[in-house]
Amino acid sequence: MARYTGPVCRICRREGTKLYLKGEKCLTKCTFDRRSSPPGVHQQRRRKVSDFALQLREKQKARRMYGVLERQMMNTFEDAAEVKGATGETLLQSLERRLDNTVYRAGFAKSRSQARQLVAHGHILVNGRASKTPSHAVQAGDAISVKESSRSSSYFKDQVSWAKTQTRPGWIETDPEAFTARVLALPTRDQIEAQVNTQLIVEYYSR
Ligand code: SF4
Repeated sequence: MARYTGPVCRICRREGTKLYLKGEKCLTKCTFDRRSSPPGVHQQRRRKVSDFALQLREKQKARRMYGVLERQMMNTFEDAAEVKGATGETLLQSLERRLDNTVYRAGFAKSRSQARQLVAHGHILVNGRASKTPSHAVQAGDAISVKESSRSSSYFKDQVSWAKTQTRPGWIETDPEAFTARVLALPTRDQIEAQVNTQLIVEYYSR
């Protein structure tokens, strides 16, 4: 399935919650704050919501929040299902550990899609080596940094002041001035901001 390229705020309205897909605009001029109704002409119609619809929406919400395609999401779920423990939590942790999400949570990008571009264009190093794979799973102790030659760009100069204003989850430590971050530990459920019901996602993929 191709990546969605339509109006981004429409996704938040569809999922009924703010997914923070547009960076700074999400914090200053959010469309959802002004208009939160679902998109489409039949938006006001009331209908009974089936269990399947609830499961599907929850899965879509998580998928769109992290910007992953259906195939990637399914593969992540299958990998999570093989790990001992609560599959839903492992799934969420796997999504949170993606390199693009880590770059975003470290404050080097204003959105996950921006972070994905930074990674894909080779601006980000993991333990000193370029990694162009947004889905790369970071490990505890990994050092994330911005490539030396990219640091002088106007984008990263602006990003330093942005990064200083952002609160970071406890599993990442960032030094914005040095363009570096460290993964202190793997993220736990209470350190992951995503408001998703992982049980519904597990039910969706276990049908
Ligand atoms: Fe969603 Fe951000 Fe658009 Fe608000 S501004 S609707 S949070 S993408």
